[in-house]
Amino acid sequence: SDSSPPPMPWFGMDIGGTLTKLVYFEPKDLSEAEEASEVESVKSIRKYLKSSSAYGETGHRDIHLQMDNLIIGKRKGTLHFIRFPTSEMNPFLALAKSKGLATMASTICATGGGAYKFEEDFKREVNLSLHKFDELDSLIRGIEYIEDNNVDKECYYFVNSRDQDNCQKCTYDFSNPYPYLIVNIGSGVSILSVYGPNNYKRVSGTSLGGGTFLGLCCLLTSCQTFEEAIELAAKGNNHEVDKLVKDIYGGDYDRFGLGGDVVASSFGHMNSKEKRSKVSKEDLACATLTTITNNIGSIARMVAANEKIEKVVFVGNFLRVNQISMRMLSHAMDYWSNGQLKAIFLEHEGYFGAVGCLLELLK
Ligand code: ADP
Repeated sequence: SDSSPPPMPWFGMDIGGTLTKLVYFEPKDLSEAEEASEVESVKSIRKYLKSSSAYGETGHRDIHLQMDNLIIGKRKGTLHFIRFPTSEMNPFLALAKSKGLATMASTICATGGGAYKFEEDFKREVNLSLHKFDELDSLIRGIEYIEDNNVDKECYYFVNSRDQDNCQKCTYDFSNPYPYLIVNIGSGVSILSVYGPNNYKRVSGTSLGGGTFLGLCCLLTSCQTFEEAIELAAKGNNHEVDKLVKDIYGGDYDRFGLGGDVVASSFGHMNSKEKRSKVSKEDLACATLTTITNNIGSIARMVAANEKIEKVVFVGNFLRVNQISMRMLSHAMDYWSNGQLKAIFLEHEGYFGAVGCLLELLK
């Protein structure tokens, strides 16, 4: 647009069912005059955000995702990526207030269900009106913007996804994207078909998502965090928990091309008291991760076949620090489609909704 950009600070926020994602644009091209005339509180917010990568008890800045020399709203600067649990919204608002956010007449663009749920709290605690945007519009805008602007290559895929020693992460050229499927694995899962710019629909979804994995894993293993759940899963073996084709057939089910190592029944061994007594936390975590991941993979495949789309882009924070699931999805897409489908992943996995929101602010 040709109107002047909104006053700083520039934020975009995605308040999800589990995590709140915040992106912050730090201008690096301020003239001396601009710097001098800058409001004190804007300066102090910038200093605070940059001073550390941990905020309060549970806030984190993902420094490895930071993007430098980005042009947004005709300004050059750095984009920062910050997250905290949505359950910590009240302490977050208190922190924001203590840093002077309430004294700025700024606008925050927000998306995700929390933009509705916490609207009153933002107004009351920090005197901010949220400008609300749709989360799926924001997600796609964010993906397309970051993919176009990340000089360090945003998209990748795996080769030899099943082979621990030879598995490789490779850059994927997404310059010609349409049509593609987005599988957004957050607390729940949404699947979108994107046919062209501003042309998409939400085709499917499932409530068995990242929240289900973490919830079940906490129940079954008494783990406390997502990171811990993933670490347990990495050390476990789902074959102690799941019933495989070979447990039923004694080998492969050749007639329909099912290998003996394919899971026939997720958690199918756990009806046996003896097997239950031998199973470890690690095995249970691994089986939970496998069950949830393969179910999502299988829904994604059916949708892709229905839509006649070959590129499947997986995003959402379920994939954070979770190469296990990415590799399982890569293998599942490849194997069950005879190489027709391609699983694609993005470096900024869970932040696209927040980025899309920031772009709305500057439109
Ligand atoms: P939402 O918008 O629904 O909050 P996200 O894309 O942020 O969705 O993904 C949330 C999911 O990411 C969780 O259900 C969990 O599986 C996973 N996750 C990754 N990192 C964390 C974390 N630090 N805390 C909680 N969940 C996490």
